[in-house]
Amino acid sequence: MIELIDTVVYAGRIKNESVLMQSSSGGAFTALSEFFLKNNNAVVASVYNYDINTAEFRLILNKNQREKAKGSKYMQSKPRKIFREAYEWLMENKGKKLLFVGMGCQADGFRKFCELKGIRDRVCIVDIICHGSPSPKLWKEYAENLQKKKKGKITYLTFKDKRNGWKSPMAYVKINGKEILIKDYVKIFYNRCALRLSCHECPYATTERKVDLTIGDYWHIEETMPDFYDSKGNSLFLIHTNKGQELFNRVRYMLDYKISNRQQCWQTNLEKPTPKSEKRDLFWDDYKKEGVNFIMKKYGTVSITTKVKNKLLKIIGGGTN
Ligand SMILES: Cc1cc2nc3c(=O)[nH]c(=O)nc-3n(C[C@H](O)[C@H](O)[C@H](O)COP(=O)(O)OP(=O)(O)OC[C@H]3O[C@@H](n4cnc5c(N)ncnc54)[C@H](O)[C@@H]3O)c2cc1C
Repeated sequence: MIELIDTVVYAGRIKNESVLMQSSSGGAFTALSEFFLKNNNAVVASVYNYDINTAEFRLILNKNQREKAKGSKYMQSKPRKIFREAYEWLMENKGKKLLFVGMGCQADGFRKFCELKGIRDRVCIVDIICHGSPSPKLWKEYAENLQKKKKGKITYLTFKDKRNGWKSPMAYVKINGKEILIKDYVKIFYNRCALRLSCHECPYATTERKVDLTIGDYWHIEETMPDFYDSKGNSLFLIHTNKGQELFNRVRYMLDYKISNRQQCWQTNLEKPTPKSEKRDLFWDDYKKEGVNFIMKKYGTVSITTKVKNKLLKIIGGGTN
């Protein structure tokens, strides 16, 4: 029987350094999925489909397939018919279990579906802390434009390359073997212009959730738990049910971890949804009239004056970047 418990908080990261470097935060996803795949169970997670430049949910049955789900994709992932596929797999594989990992809205939808279908005890449901997800259509157009400009296909995408550390991630695509930075797209992700309207009213921006476990970045850990900070990445685990605690206990041998609490791990998206940008309506009007290249230039770049101003502020100690 699954029961809600008082939220238990851990800071943690995977012990395997190369997996840590490949993961967006502290490798929580790999540790959790490893436990399911090792025992021939299944995982549902978001994979980037390079053929159509779209993030989409897939049923994952082995580690090779799981490698493709690693890494944050800054766009809304398409559900396809994943609930039905997961259900059918569970019906055909009696006695097996399934791990679902998705954003709060997707994971809670899956929880309700499983309760209706009477399969809640056969699934473990993990959600991800979320700033908001941009429109998948916008990313697709942006990616296709890049492909046209550079005369080639995107063969690799990362939003969180950690070569400069977890706190200064690099985002780029590879086309014809060359890395092409996608700073403009990342800027419109963070400046809140491109998020879907529903993200600004997200009911999952809280530490209280009905899924088994929540994972995310453990932001500010260098200040709140300085002795546990690692510049290669840190995950936050919020455990909501007895089943989530049991799963954490099973995977913790793969992790360095430390008990924490809700005050230490606080971040904005655990308290309230990302507010709508005051420029959002104009952004979408401009997009409809002028297209994706125009809005990337207008909203995704920093003017020379602002760059110089920020540099000067940094030198005198008050810079914001
Ligand atoms: C759009 C977006 C916004 C985020 N905002 C925050 C935030 O505000 N605060 C915070 O602490 N963390 C946020 N994260 C989470 C963080 O970036 C990591 O994805 C998360 O901590 C998992 O990292 P990991 O190291 O465990 O594993 P990784 O291997 O890096 O994680 C991959 C996992 O993320 C899933 N995933 C990746 N992209 C998507 C997507 N678009 N839709 C659904 N699932 C996806 C994969 O299916 C897989 O389960 C966000 C992630 C995304 C994609």
